[in-house]
Amino acid sequence: MTFSIHGLAVSRGISIGRAVLVASSRADVAHYFVEVDKIDAEITRVRVARNAVTDEITRLQKDLPKDAPHELAALLDVHLMLLQDESLISGVKHWITDRYYNAEWALTTQYEIIARQFDEMEDEYLRERKADLEQVVERILRSMKGVGSPVQPLNRPGSGRKSQQDLLLDDTTDVPLVLVAHDISPADMLQFKQSVFTGFATDVGGKTSHTAIVARSMDIPAVVGARSASQLIKQDDWVIIDGDAGVLIVDPSPIILAEYGFKQRQGELERERLNRLKNTPSLTLDGQRVELLANIELPEDTAGAVKAGAVGVGLFRSEFLFMNRESKGLKRLPNEEEQYQAYRQAIEGMHGLPVTIRTVDIGSDKPLDRNDRGQETHLNPALGLRAIRWSLADPPMFLTQLRAILRAAAHGQVNLLVPMLAHASEIRQTLSLIDQARAMLDSQGTPYGPVRLGAMIEIPAAALTLKLFLRYFDFLSIGTNDLIQYTLAIDRADEAVAHLYDPCHPAVLRLIADTIAECNAQGKGVSVCGEMAGDVAMTRLLLGLGLRSFSMHPSRILAVKQQVVRADAGKLQSWAAQVLASEEPAALLLD
Ligand code: PEP
Ligand code: MG
Repeated sequence: MTFSIHGLAVSRGISIGRAVLVASSRADVAHYFVEVDKIDAEITRVRVARNAVTDEITRLQKDLPKDAPHELAALLDVHLMLLQDESLISGVKHWITDRYYNAEWALTTQYEIIARQFDEMEDEYLRERKADLEQVVERILRSMKGVGSPVQPLNRPGSGRKSQQDLLLDDTTDVPLVLVAHDISPADMLQFKQSVFTGFATDVGGKTSHTAIVARSMDIPAVVGARSASQLIKQDDWVIIDGDAGVLIVDPSPIILAEYGFKQRQGELERERLNRLKNTPSLTLDGQRVELLANIELPEDTAGAVKAGAVGVGLFRSEFLFMNRESKGLKRLPNEEEQYQAYRQAIEGMHGLPVTIRTVDIGSDKPLDRNDRGQETHLNPALGLRAIRWSLADPPMFLTQLRAILRAAAHGQVNLLVPMLAHASEIRQTLSLIDQARAMLDSQGTPYGPVRLGAMIEIPAAALTLKLFLRYFDFLSIGTNDLIQYTLAIDRADEAVAHLYDPCHPAVLRLIADTIAECNAQGKGVSVCGEMAGDVAMTRLLLGLGLRSFSMHPSRILAVKQQVVRADAGKLQSWAAQVLASEEPAALLLD
């Protein structure tokens, strides 16, 4: 039966596919398809791992000391039994053989299905066996880690574009897949970037949560804050993700499917139309040049930025280099050389265009490691040790990053951007550490380059003390995501208060307008690098307020350019002043 679930629209477009439910803790498992002739080898990988785990547990059992508690032996028996469980074995085989899932994906998919069955059991003892199953699966996964897959990530064998009719007829393989999860950390989201999924839905998250930001950067339809989606949707259900309306439609009827298929096609045509703007200069009707820059998470993203026609990187969120390293068996923090190589790669990827590297912004909804529980022990992580506060609390770590950025600056134009500054003392400490980093490189005789220094304006206190910031920095970049969060006291990642997260609140607009005006008056560079910059509903207003530099996900650049080339910036000025003075600015934006 068809039903719908409402959430928040975070990434535009329509995706239609079968649901793949992924538990948050399993998001780091690789998801790819195997080629038909490698299916047996993939099944063998699971079998070998399962046998190894069986041997391991049997050995454990044999070596149990005589006085070991009786429960321990019984527990190992249960684990051995689960290892032989027919539904686990046949299910894994099914996902590999019939759906071409790689071994780890097949195993975790089948685990999710059996785990749900355990959840529904009346008997408490049986219900609790879910934890044992999880441990068994965990052991098999660990054992498989030692045995690399003989196959490379691939597109699904024989995959191609399917018509709506094909989708209805084809009930098994060769159909698009959409990912449904309770929550996905921003770093885990990142690893789905090149994945097989054509859409995403999560139970939690706000429009500008970092998970949503990464989903948007992938330019595929996504809905977050869909509350109990991961409970209501079952593995393999047909789901439509409507990223424009923020709605999930589960088990759609053929008529609904046809209607959304039509919308999907319309979206594709719109994209094709926008593509024609690629080589059009970004000039307003009255000849004002508007700089359209890219936000990136990883050095590899520069390829997409160049392709979209970005004239530089306005925000490289360097923290993504720092995240989830321990889960990958790496040292907790990247060293100077690793960082230098990554920044250099980004700079070279932009072929001479400027790159703005933001110093690490760890904390709040971007934990260092998915297993890092530290954040949860703080009542208000968004108000806690985050961004520059985190960096200043660990000077050796910060110096390492600063040296790496300065060294990379020898290879191209680099702007160094500092997040979340609010206090004069923080500014002084930051600048002094930058001087120290230079001095260290000097004393080693290591070459480095010049950087322009910028500060993010994302705390109201900063927006209210602009003169201080402009005394020390060459340019400012307005982080509207946080500026809105901190001005309105709304957690940007909490879907429960998402309706109050209002980019058009008069207080927010006032802070943005004053920042742009002050920078323009002093001849200093100013850009917006929060999600507002890529929101076409805001382009005219920002132009009217005097903004000439926008930084956004590459996928948004052409849509924003379309607004720019249709706008008369001079005429928009007086209209923007009216919007600013209004009690309900959002209503005027619709005009
Ligand atoms: C912002 O706050 O607007 C911003 C660009 O930084 P982030 O989204 O990474 O916090
Ligand atoms: Mg921010």
